[in-house]
Amino acid sequence: MSSTAQSLESKGTALVTGAAQGIGRAIALRLAADGFDVALNDIPSKTALLEGVQAEVIAAGRRTAVVCADVSIETEVRDMVVRTVQELGALDVMVANAGICKARKTLLEVDVAEWDRTFAVNVRGTFLCYQYAAKQMIQQGRGGRIIGASSGAGKQGFGALPDYSASKFAVRGLTQAAALELGKHGITVNAYAPGGVETPMTEQFPALAGMNPDAFFAMQAKGTATGRNPTPEDIATVVSFLASKESGFITGQSISADGGKYFD
Ligand code: NAD
Repeated sequence: MSSTAQSLESKGTALVTGAAQGIGRAIALRLAADGFDVALNDIPSKTALLEGVQAEVIAAGRRTAVVCADVSIETEVRDMVVRTVQELGALDVMVANAGICKARKTLLEVDVAEWDRTFAVNVRGTFLCYQYAAKQMIQQGRGGRIIGASSGAGKQGFGALPDYSASKFAVRGLTQAAALELGKHGITVNAYAPGGVETPMTEQFPALAGMNPDAFFAMQAKGTATGRNPTPEDIATVVSFLASKESGFITGQSISADGGKYFD
């Protein structure tokens, strides 16, 4: 589904995965406010939520398309990029935001199926988004911005999240390797590394810690330099910069946006 809105000059086309809620939704809305046309991805069961985000992008005066896909499946990622280009004309910014973090389990508890699913979405999904975006951007010949989702757990392993931590370290490695390869094409590759953002992903954590949500998130905030947890909009601000022309000399980085919690 696509829609055409007003004819303000576009800064280019961005594709945001996992855009139905949480950080992805905030990124999609920020990029629309910045002047990008925005393709919105999530899994098909999130279509109604995506259409809500789509309405907000249209209200911001940008063109938009809903491109559902499971990012862990190669053919679906390939088709997602093709549909984005068909409906919006190009792909200039890829934000590989989609990720999963299932209930906390320790090394002794996590099973192979859970491990594999975390890696399928967080690592294979990011790799596929990077690869198909890069192919399209190289073909266009005007550079681009590729942005992935690492985590504080990708800078310091969390004991209760071994699969998730390992997957987010992998995103950092992939980001550095891709940056080295794609720099000659004018494509930068960076990641954001949030910590403690209140979203549907993290709403499971207070109960698992045996705490009420207010007490849990207050405890998290206390552990930061700034004394507050980041909002989805704080993360979207980082992505806004990484997506901009002005960020062109920054590549291969995973930028913490956690209020000062995990330092490199
Ligand atoms: P969220 O669970 O609220 O949203 C993630 C979205 O990704 C969902 O809409 C979900 O349906 C979608 N998604 C899941 N699997 C998918 C798949 N296979 N294909 C396409 N879409 C899929 O999570 P969030 O908190 O907004 O996190 C966004 C990203 O930021 C994730 O990669 C997450 O790991 C990362 N992150 C979040 C935090 C945090 O504190 N919330 C911290 C560090 C990193």
